[in-house]
Amino acid sequence: MRNGLSSDLIARILGVAPKYTIAELEQKFPPRNLPDGAMVTRAAPSPTGFMHLGNLYSMLIDKKLAQQSHGVFMLRIEDTDTDREIPGAVDTILDIVEKFRLDIDEGVLKTGLEKGAYGPYTQSQRKEIYHSVAAELLATGRAYPCFLTSDEMNEIRETQTKAGMPTGIYGEFARDRDMMPDEIIAKIDAGVVPSVRLYSTGDPSKKIFCKDVARGSIAFPENNDDVVLIKSNDGLPTYHFAHLVDDHFMRTTNVVRGGEWLASLPLHIQMFNMMGWAAPAYSHTATIDKIDDETGKQRKLSKRKDPESSVANFITEGWPIEAVLEYLFNLVASGYEEEKVKNPLMTIWDYDLKLKKLSTSGALFDWKKLEWWGKEFIATLPVYDLVNRVMEWVHEYSPQWHERIGDKIDYLTKILAIERDNPKRVRKDFVTWKQTLEEVAYFFDDIFEKSEIGNQKSEINKNALDAFLRGFEWTDDKDTWWNKIVKIASDIGTKNGDVAMSLRVALTGRTNTPDLYSIMQVMGGERVIKRIGKIING
Ligand code: GLU
Repeated sequence: MRNGLSSDLIARILGVAPKYTIAELEQKFPPRNLPDGAMVTRAAPSPTGFMHLGNLYSMLIDKKLAQQSHGVFMLRIEDTDTDREIPGAVDTILDIVEKFRLDIDEGVLKTGLEKGAYGPYTQSQRKEIYHSVAAELLATGRAYPCFLTSDEMNEIRETQTKAGMPTGIYGEFARDRDMMPDEIIAKIDAGVVPSVRLYSTGDPSKKIFCKDVARGSIAFPENNDDVVLIKSNDGLPTYHFAHLVDDHFMRTTNVVRGGEWLASLPLHIQMFNMMGWAAPAYSHTATIDKIDDETGKQRKLSKRKDPESSVANFITEGWPIEAVLEYLFNLVASGYEEEKVKNPLMTIWDYDLKLKKLSTSGALFDWKKLEWWGKEFIATLPVYDLVNRVMEWVHEYSPQWHERIGDKIDYLTKILAIERDNPKRVRKDFVTWKQTLEEVAYFFDDIFEKSEIGNQKSEINKNALDAFLRGFEWTDDKDTWWNKIVKIASDIGTKNGDVAMSLRVALTGRTNTPDLYSIMQVMGGERVIKRIGKIING
């Protein structure tokens, strides 16, 4: 600890007099009155304009922990990095939270308002809270104003890198840590705005034990880096300081965050200890990886290279949000899949997540597996729900399908109802909303007419089609219809299956479809006659 600074000087360092004392903040944001075991969690995305799948993954865990423990799930916007700010980025986050139905108990809402008594929940609006805590640290010698310029810091970093030393502001490099008040005043009078740094008392030759829920206790060297708490350029806190202040005064019990933060854990524990505050329980998540096409090596999903890293893509591509969440959830709770197979109607919200089992090594993103979850989920939907969900996607993301379907919702409903009447054996070829439409696209004349059935022509027996058309009655029941096919086959000396295949290809352009009789029923007599006629005459 160094000598504390006077309140006048602190006001000059921070540019304002602190609004609260720590005791006042403690009172303003009191410990929460929740049942034993209730977890208070927060999603804390930064508005960068892009939400990575890893962000959604932690967010899901946060939501799930709060939900299963009857706790509180907060959404906090971490916008202290003003250099990276992108207009509209907060909306992207709020949109995704809404789309994935991760309803929040507290935090920032789409209306621009927020709910909860522990706010503001946007960091840039919490300046007076950070400044109040920083003032207390300056007053008690646990922080100091630092006047190092960025050039000076670059030089320090270069020297350290050349000498193979750890980078940071420590020891001889922490030039201003013991600066006297008159020197500080002189600098400020000269117009230099300081940052506020931690006056670290850590000794890297000693160990600090830090706990991660799944990894257990990990020994780290103590931190001796005088990290920045309040930045000089905008008076906003760094991640480290905001985390300390927010997660204390929001009374967060569990922090779930990306594995890249694990290295900062000793610093964070040091700061909580310094304040005499209980640190939250930490869980550092594993990365979501893929095998790099070029190098063949496992690596983290990249924002730049991999479309599967973007949460927004899953929405625009029409993935059922339930399937995406179940897929991610199963990476955390690997027993979930087995339960789900036994009980297809169960959801992630019914399954108990054990934080201790959180995987700590990178998981490979697996499209095939995600597709499986998509199929399983869509198979549970009654047809009206399926139509609604498909149409929701169409309205928002596909003007072409919107126009094509127009007022033919009844037609679409009948199409999607095919092989959906037996709940025990529902077709499982629908994966996403978009692909569902592609899968049944042949029902729509404009697409069918453009489609290439030429390469299936070898499957077509024109005599069979001709005979079928002559005897065709749309009102035939399934037995009568089938008996006619059997008769045609024996008349022209071919197999029943060949006749059916000719019809299938002529009507759908495909050799593999659901039940052909149902398809004809849904298409209607006129369309059947037209399509078959065209092949015969073509
Ligand atoms: N804003 C931080 C990030 O996006 C949050 C990390 C945390 O959850 O504490 O990485």
